[in-house]
Amino acid sequence: LRAGLLPSGCEIAEYTVSPVAMEDGAHEAHASSDEHESLAASPNHHDAEQHSCHSDDSEVENIMQEPPHPAGHRPHTPSQLHLPAAARAQSGSRSEPRLSRRQSAEFDLSSVPISPTRPKSPWGPFDPYNNNEDQGKEYVGFATLPNQVHRKSVKKGFDFTLMVAGESGLGKSTLVNSLFLTDLYKDRKLLNAEERITQTVEITKHTVDIEEKGVKLKLTIVDTPGFGDAVNNTECWKSVADYIDQQFEQYFRDESGLNRKNIQDNRVHCCLYFISPFGHGLRPLDVEFMKALHEKVNIVPILAKADTLTPAEVKKKKFKIREEIEQYGIKIYQFPDCDSDEDDDFKQQDHQLKESIPFAVIGSNTVVEAKGKRVRGRLYPWGIVEVENSAHCDFVKLRNMLVRTHMQDLKDVTRETHYENYRAHCIQNMTRMVVKERNRNKLTRESGTDFPIPVVPAVGDETEKLIREKDEEVRHAEQQRDSHSQHEHECEQSYSHVVKQ
Ligand code: GDP
Repeated sequence: LRAGLLPSGCEIAEYTVSPVAMEDGAHEAHASSDEHESLAASPNHHDAEQHSCHSDDSEVENIMQEPPHPAGHRPHTPSQLHLPAAARAQSGSRSEPRLSRRQSAEFDLSSVPISPTRPKSPWGPFDPYNNNEDQGKEYVGFATLPNQVHRKSVKKGFDFTLMVAGESGLGKSTLVNSLFLTDLYKDRKLLNAEERITQTVEITKHTVDIEEKGVKLKLTIVDTPGFGDAVNNTECWKSVADYIDQQFEQYFRDESGLNRKNIQDNRVHCCLYFISPFGHGLRPLDVEFMKALHEKVNIVPILAKADTLTPAEVKKKKFKIREEIEQYGIKIYQFPDCDSDEDDDFKQQDHQLKESIPFAVIGSNTVVEAKGKRVRGRLYPWGIVEVENSAHCDFVKLRNMLVRTHMQDLKDVTRETHYENYRAHCIQNMTRMVVKERNRNKLTRESGTDFPIPVVPAVGDETEKLIREKDEEVRHAEQQRDSHSQHEHECEQSYSHVVKQ
């Protein structure tokens, strides 16, 4: 991070933590195990077990490049084209050594071509041509493109940057730990009241690599400790806005540079903004923060500590907050519209998701026993609130939205809308600066007070052409005038010579 871009007093701390197993043993997002590694290389676990040859990436690539045919043989002989699968297996078994039962099962499944132009498919059950309809038909094969994209992105891994903002004590760290089942705040130092008076907004960054079913995710959590904690909170959103801009600037520089191969993308994809459950709707600071940032980042409002409210209060507060968001013209993250051909269940879920804004959440990092089941929740003298029970709060809806259904959309909106706005703004400013500089140089050249710096060519081909034509005309006129005066001078000289004589 480059110094000087954040306001003075704003510090940035960076941590990298490794995932820790939480009390809840059911979750699978841990550091990679052997099983996960083999799953990563194969499109499906079952497939990896049955076809050991599919579990090795390099082998798959070899298969894709070079069909396994003996040298000197044409890959697709007519006899092979028309023989039914069973007959092919039989004829093959005559000349081949006898196969064991397991080997012959492998032979039947993987080495018998389904489509004549594809001798062996590396995609196993995920092969888009793997059905009876396609038997014997000729295909170019580009229906496997989605598989290729899938494979490449799984290999590369994914990244996601989530920002949490809101005054301290609203349960931000507890919620983040509950969402990703990691202890991201091990080293956090809590300040006392006296220390907080002088504290400015800090930006801290925690990175954790998590892996689930062979898919790797580099998760970055950006926290804003100190936000809204001071006696005077005027413009305390500024350092957060500066941080987001700084990430855009870094990305803009990197992608305009020479080496664009390994650009690190630290752009913030989503900001969970925590609203206190104790106020009556939004506070001025909430409005100010969201209005200052809504064009830079996807804001998802959160109603914190929902267990401190009755269901009727939650409903009333949600309604009031939604109303105020509209009233103040705050543009929070908009869920994309459902396609009309989606099934009714999906449409219903989508509608419920939109109605849940702001998500009323409960966070907890402890596992308690409720009705004989171990659940993540909060234990009170009068009962247990379960974090993952949708009758108690919107935690599951929020997690599903963030991770399962909308993570890619959040990234797309960041790239296509927020970053694009930043980029356009930057380019506009740069163009303005160039024009200003050009005009300044022109003035300097005309006044002759300085060394003339070559003027930047006029914008647009047409203008440039006109200027060149004009220059040509002026030069021509000057040449004519010169030759004319030369001629006149010569005439004069010869005339005076004659007169003298
Ligand atoms: P942060 O400063 O915003 O990161 O807040 P913390 O996550 O440190 O939580 C502050 C306190 O609130 C801790 O004592 C948590 O146990 C508690 N807490 C966190 N989430 C909840 C919640 O959903 N409900 C209630 N009642 N308390 C919570």
